[in-house]
Amino acid sequence: MQFFAVFGNPISHSKSPLLHNYVFYKLGIEARYTRYLLEKSHNFRDLFFSLGLSGANITLPYKEILFEYCDEIRGIANNIGAINTIVKKDSKLIGYNTDANGFFKNIEYERIKNALILGAGGSARAIACILREHNITPLIANRSPSKLQFFKQNGFEVCLYDDTLALSQSFDIIINATSSSINGELPLEESLLHLLFSHATIAFDLMYGKECKFLTLAQNHNLKTYDGAKMLLYQAITASSLFLDTKEDKIAKYMNEIYEII
Ligand code: NDP
Repeated sequence: MQFFAVFGNPISHSKSPLLHNYVFYKLGIEARYTRYLLEKSHNFRDLFFSLGLSGANITLPYKEILFEYCDEIRGIANNIGAINTIVKKDSKLIGYNTDANGFFKNIEYERIKNALILGAGGSARAIACILREHNITPLIANRSPSKLQFFKQNGFEVCLYDDTLALSQSFDIIINATSSSINGELPLEESLLHLLFSHATIAFDLMYGKECKFLTLAQNHNLKTYDGAKMLLYQAITASSLFLDTKEDKIAKYMNEIYEII
């Protein structure tokens, strides 16, 4: 029997166990996936090994912190400096970031030249890096300066919310990568959002499963909108394929089935 878990705080809302356990069941694999409320991260490695885990997903607020706890980092996670998936290989913890591709798969066929990312946390990092890999230039805007340091150091354009000049430019897509929607808030002053939406064609909010003021406002401007539900699905497909060392196609079929139900 193999065991997997998603670690975060809070964690009770996570749909990851439903997605992963269904795939195990359909593929006839003896494995279980559970949630784990991680209150402190300093003993993460001991915890991982004492629980006998073969792999894990990492969510808010540990994606950057637990990056440091891996023995090896693979792929785009090296640029992002944050992980959301860990696979145990020969007693080593290998870290990956599947959020970046999970996000990009939503919009890969859209015509986008430039993007505005609101927020500067782990998910904003993933989105900025994957957009740049696809030659889309993002501006990253945040309400406070400290998290913008990472972006500055990595050659991204950044601004604070009070830089109305930078935010009066025209962007094809406006991405809300803040946690504002979880609390039913807008990430930015409504008047500024009206201005941004009047120039844009697409709005994306990473939250899923709840009414979203940001996307409602965007729809009032006739923008095409995406929430974070498919991002969750796509990142989970890639994570499952890493856990099981199985092709994504085989997993996607079942993950899509359960996604339609939950
Ligand atoms: P972090 O905690 O790393 O960063 C949060 C960011 O949001 C910070 O930039 C913070 O600003 C900003 N912020 C928080 N509250 C507000 C607010 N009320 N108004 C404006 N800005 C705010 O979070 P993550 O990047 O990991 O995640 C962000 C969101 O994306 C979460 O809601 C998460 O659930 C969602 N998500 C969804 C995924 C999916 O698969 N659909 C995958 C990953 C994330 P400051 O620096 O000033 O504090």
